[in-house]
Amino acid sequence: MDSHKIYLYNTASKSKSEFKPLVSGKAGMYTCGPTVYHYAHIGNLRTFVFNDFLRRMLSYFGYEVNHVMNITDVGHLTDDGDSGEDKMLKGARREKKTVWDVAKFYTDAFLLDCKKLNLLPASVLCKATDHIKEQIAMIEKLQENGLTYQAGGNIYFDSSKLSDYGKLVGLDVSKISETQARVEGDSNKKNPHDFVLWFTKSKFDEQAMKWESPFGTGYPGWHIECSAMASKYLGEQFDIHTGGMDLAPVHHINEIAQAEGAFGKTPWVKTWMHGEFLVLGKDEKMSKSSGNFLSLSSLEEKGFSGLDYRYFLLSGHYRKPLTFSFESLEGAKVARKRLQEKIWSLKEKWAGVSLDKLGRDGLSEVALGYLEVFESRIADDLNMPQVVALVWDLLKDNDLSNNEKYILLMDFDNVFGLDLGAKKKEVEVPEEVAVLVTKRQAARVAKDWAKGDELRDKVRALGYKIQDKPDGSFEIVRVN
Ligand code: AMP
Ligand code: ZN
Repeated sequence: MDSHKIYLYNTASKSKSEFKPLVSGKAGMYTCGPTVYHYAHIGNLRTFVFNDFLRRMLSYFGYEVNHVMNITDVGHLTDDGDSGEDKMLKGARREKKTVWDVAKFYTDAFLLDCKKLNLLPASVLCKATDHIKEQIAMIEKLQENGLTYQAGGNIYFDSSKLSDYGKLVGLDVSKISETQARVEGDSNKKNPHDFVLWFTKSKFDEQAMKWESPFGTGYPGWHIECSAMASKYLGEQFDIHTGGMDLAPVHHINEIAQAEGAFGKTPWVKTWMHGEFLVLGKDEKMSKSSGNFLSLSSLEEKGFSGLDYRYFLLSGHYRKPLTFSFESLEGAKVARKRLQEKIWSLKEKWAGVSLDKLGRDGLSEVALGYLEVFESRIADDLNMPQVVALVWDLLKDNDLSNNEKYILLMDFDNVFGLDLGAKKKEVEVPEEVAVLVTKRQAARVAKDWAKGDELRDKVRALGYKIQDKPDGSFEIVRVN
């Protein structure tokens, strides 16, 4: 691929700017992963699919992407502040399992969802519970730098010590904010925005996850794991950090405070990218903590695949809310099937040629024009809805050969991730149908068209359709 200018929207600057990696040709990217106390809901999955589009786009333009994602398996609170209920304990109680079993079960379930959505596996998938040592080391660094205090047995981050605390979201600490209102419950705090780095005084008597530390036996606060693991695998400064937009106002400002407070390098992350929410119609809920939500399995039960959902997600720009409905998902399913069948029909004649092998100079001017539009749209802050529109224009364009259509679409799929190169599954035909089809063949050879039609109708009544092709061959497809 050629080197193309990429423009990304940065939450920190509230504007799009050209992506300039810290190390030429490489992109370091950290994604806040799932909290594994329940299945991921389809809203969570929207955010992970957005990360995947981003990652594929960077790879498409030749960047070597080091993608780090964490698994939050330490119990944290249902609230964004330090109040509320411990999520892992809640999961354990609900399922009468240990917190460790709950974490393992839902981590596996999440990874299976990722596979069904055709997400590229993270280069590093790191669990919070495997990195307690690193989190402790970071807290010690913050202590050395005079940014912490101890109160009520816990270690707190002192947000008043950083003049630019909350800069990611333009926080005005002098004003009472919504965030502030939520954390006011803890009387140990000196300032409303302070947060816990290490708990020793757990309000949860049954707290199962506890570790020895210089600050006492206890467990880390929610935010420290991401700062510690991102720095371990990506360095003290790196290129891109992603997550859902709800994470910016608390979790991410605290991640920044910890990392910049510990290392003294600004900015910790060059580009902050946040995905907007998937929203439901008024009768549907999407809250993991309420337990009432749509998971990928619930879509599968209704006959939709992970790739159907992935196609649906292509229809919305990641920075705009996207409304989910089963009608829209049905539309996506139909469109994806049409696209896949189109690919198969093009492939039969032109198998095996990729753009990499052919080279851009092997393309016609028209095809090159499509390629350039595709590239400029994905490089413009991932304008996926517009590239999907381009696909359908391209398919209709009579100035393009089937060969070039196939080559371009397979190339685009490196970013779409729709697995368009999948092999066509041959329909398994029951014996009864196979007998009728064989008899129909014989009738047609004997030019007994009436008998042939009668047999075709019988096949149809059994739920299969014979599709004759102009070259005399035929295909059997299942019909509902
Ligand atoms: P969690 O497992 O709760 O830590 O969330 C995993 C990811 O999903 C985070 O990046 C959240 O910001 C994101 N998220 C939560 N709800 C939604 C939603 N309705 N739409 C899109 N992303 C969401
Ligand atoms: Zn995080």
